[in-house]
Amino acid sequence: MAHIAFIGLGNMGGPMAGNLVKAGHQVSGFDLSPAAIEAAQARGVSIAESAAAAVGQADVVVTMLPSGRHVLGALTGENGLLSKAPAGTLFIDSSTIDVASARAFHEAAQKAGHKSVDAPVSGGVGGAEAATLTFMAGGADADFAGARPYLELMGKKIVHCGGAGAGQAAKICNNMILGISMIAVSEAFVLGEKLGLSHQALFDVASTSSGQCWSLNTYCPVPGPVPTSPANRDYVPGFAAALMLKDLRLSQDAAGEAGAATPLGAAATELYTRFAESGHEGTDFSGIVRWLRENKGE
Ligand code: NAD
Repeated sequence: MAHIAFIGLGNMGGPMAGNLVKAGHQVSGFDLSPAAIEAAQARGVSIAESAAAAVGQADVVVTMLPSGRHVLGALTGENGLLSKAPAGTLFIDSSTIDVASARAFHEAAQKAGHKSVDAPVSGGVGGAEAATLTFMAGGADADFAGARPYLELMGKKIVHCGGAGAGQAAKICNNMILGISMIAVSEAFVLGEKLGLSHQALFDVASTSSGQCWSLNTYCPVPGPVPTSPANRDYVPGFAAALMLKDLRLSQDAAGEAGAATPLGAAATELYTRFAESGHEGTDFSGIVRWLRENKGE
């Protein structure tokens, strides 16, 4: 049994911490939100008085926070958690954050004498509940080896992508594909409608031909062909447009810094910005098909 501190017990962190409790670990958690604290307590997480108190005895610290600013704000600086944990603590950051902040996290953790792994996830709240998340990890081999047994309690597929920040890099590249491909599939359905094609006919052809992809085959943006997709429940997320936009913006920040040309990534970011800002932040990201149908993307 390890002492694990879990900082950020929100929609994802709460159930992830709960899975560590189920595996028999002593989990001491902290969050700023009373509702998140209450829900985590119901999952068997002991709530510490402060984040610093949570990490005081920790072997492992997991952070699951909104953005790079929150992660560096909690961990670094004079009163940051890196200075409150016992020497040699393993820090795992599973938040989705920008690559530059992820690298800064590793640098600060190593400088403070700790082990560090960036390990963002895909699989959403359902995957967090069912412990079927995919973890994309970055960090030194030895640090990743130390993190793997804990990641396996919260996820099904664990991929070591490379050194510091490589997990975040893989995450935003994957999600840039996702944003672009959802728009591509949605545009094809809108064009098909204008050409008199039924949704089912286009699905039957494209899902078994060269147009096949996750956005079509698993998460079809029109109702009918894939009964489990959010299109069948009025685009209740699922994966909200605001989160898609967050990840696309991270991809464009990284592309700018790295000097990579991503013209379709830029176009997808622009379309999701306009979609989200027209009152659809909380709509599933596949709902962009309705918006495109109304020529809002013009
Ligand atoms: P959330 O907003 O539900 O949870 C974040 C929690 O962090 C909140 O409860 C907030 O109170 C807490 N928090 C903020 N600052 C804090 C601090 N200094 N100390 C302690 N707690 C603090 O968000 P979420 O959906 O759980 O997402 C967490 C991360 O996972 C994000 O980076 C998100 O992009 C990523 N992610 C989310 C999903 C998803 O489907 N929700 C999927 C993959 C990745």
